[in-house]
Amino acid sequence: MNSSISDILRDAIRTIPDYPKPGILFRDITTLLGNARAFRRAIDELVQPFAGSKVDQIAGIEARGFILGGAVAHQLSAGFVPIRKKGKLPHAKVSIAYSLEYGVDEMEVHKDAISPGQSVILIDDLIATGGTAVAAAKLLQGLGANVVAACFVIDLPDLGGRAKLEALGVPVRTLIAFEGH
Ligand code: AMP
Repeated sequence: MNSSISDILRDAIRTIPDYPKPGILFRDITTLLGNARAFRRAIDELVQPFAGSKVDQIAGIEARGFILGGAVAHQLSAGFVPIRKKGKLPHAKVSIAYSLEYGVDEMEVHKDAISPGQSVILIDDLIATGGTAVAAAKLLQGLGANVVAACFVIDLPDLGGRAKLEALGVPVRTLIAFEGH
């Protein structure tokens, strides 16, 4: 039987209630990553609109965005740029503070990771309030990147992240949506 992409992804993602705090339904993609067919389909779907277009860099948000972004970079023959939590990058960097669905944090990217005018796709596993991805997009735009898209496996549309990225001029691609938090 041919399952739809959303059925394959939905079945492969595990939901952990009340993690990391009460009221959060944590969408755990480790089960998707461990499922060869689902992992491959997710990457194929993420890259599909960009096949054949020139993308210079894939920027992945630590940590799950590294796994997805590395695979996407390989498929698109692009470079990979890590956006890391504060204090992890060794060379000259720029930082930005941002608020999460559950907390406040700071992220950094190497100053020389992007050349002005490069086309960059931002990747993470999930967009919720958009705080993380908006901060990452601002970091990249601050380095002169043309952020041509932000791509996520999972959208939590009730939290409104998509509109915040679109307000920065960044088109958003997501593969499946889950209701609620
Ligand atoms: P936000 O900044 O609110 O869009 O949150 C997105 C970031 O937090 C991503 O890096 C996600 O991996 C993580 N995250 C937020 N909410 C969830 C959730 N319900 N399940 C899994 N990860 C989440």
